[in-house]
Amino acid sequence: MSMAEGITVKKAENPSEWYTQVIQKAELIDYTDVSGCYVFRPRSFAIWEKLREFFDCEIKKLGVQNLYFPMFIPESFFKKEAEHVEGFAPEVAWVTHSGNTELKERLAIRPTSEAIISDSFRKWTRSWKDLPIKVNQWCNVVRWEFNNPQPFLRTREFLWQEGHTLFVTKEDADKEVMDILELYRRISEELYAMPALLGKKSEKEKFAGADYTTSVECFLPTGKAIQLATSHALGQNFAKAFEIEYTDANEEKQHPYQNSWGISTRSIGVMVIMHSDDKGLVVPPRVALNKAVIVPITTKKVNEEVIKKAKEVYRELKGFNVIFDDREGYSPGWKYNEWEMKGIPVRIEIGPKDVEKDQVVFVRRDNGEKVFVPILNVKERLKEMLEDMQGVLLDNAKSFLKENTLFPKNKEELKTAVNDGKLSLINWCGGCEESIKELGAKTLNMPFDQNPKGSCVNCGSKAKFEIYVSKSY
Ligand SMILES: [Zn+2]
Repeated sequence: MSMAEGITVKKAENPSEWYTQVIQKAELIDYTDVSGCYVFRPRSFAIWEKLREFFDCEIKKLGVQNLYFPMFIPESFFKKEAEHVEGFAPEVAWVTHSGNTELKERLAIRPTSEAIISDSFRKWTRSWKDLPIKVNQWCNVVRWEFNNPQPFLRTREFLWQEGHTLFVTKEDADKEVMDILELYRRISEELYAMPALLGKKSEKEKFAGADYTTSVECFLPTGKAIQLATSHALGQNFAKAFEIEYTDANEEKQHPYQNSWGISTRSIGVMVIMHSDDKGLVVPPRVALNKAVIVPITTKKVNEEVIKKAKEVYRELKGFNVIFDDREGYSPGWKYNEWEMKGIPVRIEIGPKDVEKDQVVFVRRDNGEKVFVPILNVKERLKEMLEDMQGVLLDNAKSFLKENTLFPKNKEELKTAVNDGKLSLINWCGGCEESIKELGAKTLNMPFDQNPKGSCVNCGSKAKFEIYVSKSY
């Protein structure tokens, strides 16, 4: 039997090759012949399902209903909101033919669905009594970007949810933007164990056609940040362009206030980079498909007894979706490496000596901690270990974030911080984003708690905002 090859490069030394190896060797992703389009294998799709389960349940509590729109958007719809079409035009894939016949109107494959949903909103909105409307769809979208696709992080087709809502008042719409952002924060912190940077995007970085965009950003151990999720206030921009109108209580025509919000399968890649290590994948237990793997350590003589005991433990841990690895022809060490690479949170070893003592050995994936656990207590001790691991992953990520956040006071310091792969919170004028880009960095978002002082760190004019800046994916 050949040894499964482990991860051959170090995260710190070659993060991009390391990432490529981890996601393939942990069986999260497979490549296809279409550049930028990937196979989500069961181990990654299960993570997506956990996110979906959580978020779907929470938005239903807010009164959101699921529905489904076609993936083809007529070009004429798409052109109605000028900023929107301009923002998305470079990456839209078009359907132009049916067989050999050219279509009368080309159809956009949705890069996002505001245009087609707004057209239906126009038909569904008559009176103030029809509002609010709150709908969501779980679907795929296509953005045919040409620069350097990366599995999960930057792909031409991806899965997401897109929520679309209409309100009578701006206050209600604004409140929902924040309610949804809070759910994205909880996905980031409570499911993925990643500290979330919440804030408002700059005018330049906001969604094409929105009044303002709020986002969750994550800063990763590779020294780069990435946008995890966005919640947009579209104001009345789409309502005006698509003639969405209702009659208010005084019989007057009004445009409603509209929001849209989304999180995608990109988040899986962000989580992988946040927690995984030189041995392979590390998954926060709450989103892990299999919480543990049992490896019986057998010799010819005591084989039966060990297997019997291990099966008892397996039955006891039924609710944890445990893998039972009694494959023959593989050494225990080989199996340990394989399951570490695939990110199973806890390994449970049981050998002849453990059977004598009525115990098993738990080994934790994130820190290698090894403890002996009486068989009587396996269920509660596994639960405890998983919860502890979930908490420690978040704590470690928080410490990393704190240690790597700098507050540069001038352009030289900002430049150094960017080059060193640090996250910077700077006083900023609200303009000068081009020259921040020239440093190889990007503005992420402006934290909600604003306290700008003095002059812009980048250009020296009066500071109006505080904003996070770093290298970015
Ligand atoms: Zn400036």
